[in-house]
Amino acid sequence: MEKHLMTHTLFGQELRRDHEVDFVAETDVIVVGSGAGAFTSAITAAKHGASVIQLEKATEIGGTTKKAAAAYWVPNNHFMREKGWADPKDDALRHMARLTRPQHYDPDKPHLGLTEWEFVMTEAFYDNAGPAVEQLTKWGALEPIPWDIQPDYYAQMEENKAPFGRIIYPHRFGGAPDEVGDGTDMIAVFAKSAGEAGVDLRLGHAVSKAVVDDQDRVVGVIATTDAGEIAVKARQAVIFASGGFTHNVDLRTSSLPGPILSGCAASTNTGDFVPIAQALGADLVNMNGAWLAPMVLDRAIANRPDQVCSFSIPGDSMLWVNRYGKRVVNEKAPYQDVVPTFWAWESQKAEYPNLALVMIWDESCKQHHSGDKYGNPMIPDGGDQAHIVRGDTLEALADAVQERLAEYADRIGGWNLDPDFVSTLKSTIERYNDFASTGIDEDFHRGEAPIELYFNMGGRPGNDKNETMWPVSDSGPYYATLLAPATLDTKGGPRTNPDGQVLDRSGEVITGLYAVGNCAGAMSGGSYWAGGATLGPIITSAYLAGRHAAATSTRVEEPAAATF
Ligand SMILES: Cc1cc2nc3c(=O)[nH]c(=O)nc-3n(C[C@H](O)[C@H](O)[C@H](O)COP(=O)(O)OP(=O)(O)OC[C@H]3O[C@@H](n4cnc5c(N)ncnc54)[C@H](O)[C@@H]3O)c2cc1C
Repeated sequence: MEKHLMTHTLFGQELRRDHEVDFVAETDVIVVGSGAGAFTSAITAAKHGASVIQLEKATEIGGTTKKAAAAYWVPNNHFMREKGWADPKDDALRHMARLTRPQHYDPDKPHLGLTEWEFVMTEAFYDNAGPAVEQLTKWGALEPIPWDIQPDYYAQMEENKAPFGRIIYPHRFGGAPDEVGDGTDMIAVFAKSAGEAGVDLRLGHAVSKAVVDDQDRVVGVIATTDAGEIAVKARQAVIFASGGFTHNVDLRTSSLPGPILSGCAASTNTGDFVPIAQALGADLVNMNGAWLAPMVLDRAIANRPDQVCSFSIPGDSMLWVNRYGKRVVNEKAPYQDVVPTFWAWESQKAEYPNLALVMIWDESCKQHHSGDKYGNPMIPDGGDQAHIVRGDTLEALADAVQERLAEYADRIGGWNLDPDFVSTLKSTIERYNDFASTGIDEDFHRGEAPIELYFNMGGRPGNDKNETMWPVSDSGPYYATLLAPATLDTKGGPRTNPDGQVLDRSGEVITGLYAVGNCAGAMSGGSYWAGGATLGPIITSAYLAGRHAAATSTRVEEPAAATF
């Protein structure tokens, strides 16, 4: 139920009353950001007859979305249906529920072990993802290419009845009909479509405050620009799609459940919406949740805007060890799932033994698996190899790693290698090589899930056992880099209803306020359902929010509403 008088007192320097400000512009709907969430909402609202002003903090469009591979995961999509591939709702919900809350999962419970809110949001995602993508495609806002060869991250799970077919990639903007593109292409198509729909996009506008009327409805925003602060009025709604708080070190450190040394979200994603939402009395959820992946430590420390995480690194005669020289994880597991291993706490020593993991590979792995796709640290010769150390022996390699760690001592609490690192590493490699020669990783089951083979991108000739494993050579040169825990972005923020309306702590709608994408609280808890499971739900919720926000447009001349 919407209300106009709030059940709590508004407070905070992030709010202004409308009678205190002079609006320099007025529109039906304000959209904050220019990633997938923002563009989807802006285009959808405009197509439903609303005038839209889109405010982006950066001087260029695209946010994190532009950096992404930009797969989007869409259960029961029209490509699947055209092929006769079933993706029944009950099974899909079970699959998502088991991943979101495994500790409470029960297929016989009405909400499958999810909270009621998580269940409602997950169900809304299943019901609306396909229709949203179809409509956006009809408008020319998405150019989808189904990608049936990539298995889901949990293709092997009993609950996963549609392990292939839900993943869609963007078409290469202006490319050949079947040419697959990435986030740059997704954003280019969105921008073109938004322009055609009449969206008024303004760069260099960092929204810092919400404007409320005397009935506590959100009626505008204050944005900081080069020319100072300006106020923009929204007759209908303000939709935040301003990304997560990866680059707000204080908030990230106090919210996330373990150490995170950096992230590859847009550098402008500093959680600006969090204090605004708090001041408006929003109910924040999943603030300890993030989309996780390892990142090369040197890149994490350099913190450049163009940095990316290292997603599912290919390679066979390659392994990761901790400060004691021990393997601690299946190196091929989905990137979300390896990061909690970095957070393991050793009580007696009061330390994080895995705060960084040393990725080690040999010359033949370099020959077979070098590349720079998806943050692969094994950069081929001629590329930027500054993060790679080399040693002709394992002893020399360990010395080089130790030297690198010493350079970063003040950034990682003096974390370094144990004095027995090399001798333990030698036995670790011996054990790993035994597993590689049989093809069975008795410790971590590397290479047993379909996605692990997919991301390994093929094995070397002659390896017919387990293409993700090959014995590490007993002679150098050896190479190493350090991996650290990082985020793609965070996924905590205000609780919303399926239409993206922000809810306060008593479950009431905060009138005029919407949140979509990584600035909103995600219903998926700490999980990453599949490749594309950030953008699938983001596009879906942003579509629903744009449609809802425009529903009571007050524009005099409205374009014909789109048909469904
Ligand atoms: C290398 C990489 C690969 C990835 N691959 C995939 C993939 O294949 N599939 C997938 O599902 N996900 C992937 N992701 C994650 C995905 O990119 C993000 O989850 C998604 O793009 C987030 O979209 P968004 O619209 O919520 O936010 P963003 O795209 O981050 O956009 C937020 C925007 O808000 C702007 N902003 C912030 N604060 C303000 C403010 N105060 N005022 C105005 N504007 C503001 C930012 O500048 C930014 O432009 C990947 C991420 C990376 C980094």
